[in-house]
Amino acid sequence: MSIYTPTIGLEVHAELKTKTKMFCESPNNPDETTPNVNVCPICMGHPGTLPVINKEAVRNVLKMGLALEGGIADYTEFDRKNYFYPDLPKGYQISQYAFPLVCGGSLAGVAVTRVHLEEDTARSMHERGNYSVVDFNRAGIPLMELVTDPVIHDAATAGRFARELQLLIRSLGIGEANMEKGQMRVEANISVSRDNNKGTKVEVKNLNSFRSVERAILFEIERQTRLLEEGGRVVQETRGWDEGKQETYSQRIKEESHDYRYFPDPDLPKLQLSTVPECSAAQLRQEMPELPAERRARYQLLGIEDQAVETLVYDAKLGNFFDAIVNAGLKKEEINRGVNYLVSDTLGILKGVGKTTEDIVCSPEAFADLIAMLGDEKISSRGAKDILPVLLLKGGSPEAIARDKQLMQVSDAGALEKVALQIIAAHPKVAEEYKEGKEASLQFLIGQGMKETKGSASPTALRDALIAVIQTK
Ligand code: MN
Repeated sequence: MSIYTPTIGLEVHAELKTKTKMFCESPNNPDETTPNVNVCPICMGHPGTLPVINKEAVRNVLKMGLALEGGIADYTEFDRKNYFYPDLPKGYQISQYAFPLVCGGSLAGVAVTRVHLEEDTARSMHERGNYSVVDFNRAGIPLMELVTDPVIHDAATAGRFARELQLLIRSLGIGEANMEKGQMRVEANISVSRDNNKGTKVEVKNLNSFRSVERAILFEIERQTRLLEEGGRVVQETRGWDEGKQETYSQRIKEESHDYRYFPDPDLPKLQLSTVPECSAAQLRQEMPELPAERRARYQLLGIEDQAVETLVYDAKLGNFFDAIVNAGLKKEEINRGVNYLVSDTLGILKGVGKTTEDIVCSPEAFADLIAMLGDEKISSRGAKDILPVLLLKGGSPEAIARDKQLMQVSDAGALEKVALQIIAAHPKVAEEYKEGKEASLQFLIGQGMKETKGSASPTALRDALIAVIQTK
């Protein structure tokens, strides 16, 4: 029996968040809806214009390189990648070839080959009947291209890598990486080797969600394996992903071995990054935020369970809010309770009213107070669930809300002793049974006491009061 081994490499393009485009002063605004307004002679490729390198974009890619622990280039240059397409006004794309900004590194256990900087193309729209239109707002937007080594062997790992990359881009603040909006575009190179014979590589494009990345890879592995099993052979080609049919389809048979005639762009200076202070590793390291992997490790050390850790890491606003609650004095032993009220109750409440973490108006101190009140049994968990929505969306102090809603629990010993005496007087037999060792009888008395106080008593304090009264009898 033959052994079939899938091998996958990913190529990811991500638009970078900068004020202006890669080589000109046209705004880089991904939300612009009017076509062809963020344009100028440079990004429209008019003759005689000269590009200027966007330093912020270079710094963004270098930050990614540091996060991946890759090698940061000292010498780097930009090259022209020559080809013709209506969305490419100059007839070439400025990219990087022999001297990328970053070489090596890894993320989520996957080795990264390189990360380089280039410019995005314009957006062509073909759904116009018998003609196509082009929107040049996107032309020249800084684009980061990351290539992994072909070291992935299953769809789940590829999906995990892509999700982690999106998270990292967002955490670094260098892009939005929204796949549905095309801000992050993933291509997968997939081959299946039979026994030890190298397989033929198929490239799959237009994957615009993590699910389609995984589904397309699964589909290709199955398709190629079946072809080989049936004695056929895999054709080297570019395939698209049909979201409706959930299958890949042939786009270009035998990828015409492009000769892009790369050569260094003579209009741009070569860069010696060590001579640019803002691009020095030391300077960039100072600006690096806490990375997702670091945050994950920090939360795990606090003893937070894995799923909650992921929620706090993926929703950075929620994670920051949690950190602020801890700083506001949330006790160590209350951490898991606090996390639960945050990742399940709080998110549930917000979702229920169509809001997000950004809409939380209460202070971290107030949230910490609420958790402390629970711990001190000043309120019941039922009461906390009534207080929480008001606290989150209107703010204020949890104690004021609790008083307003009459949710403060009575734990005052004197008051509860009175209740205990009253309950025991009404049920002397049951009290006697408890004294003789019947534990369940105490539960009954607590229940009566809770009923008597309309649920406002702290169950633990009431329990203590009952035991004290019975024992002194
Ligand atoms: Mn590219």
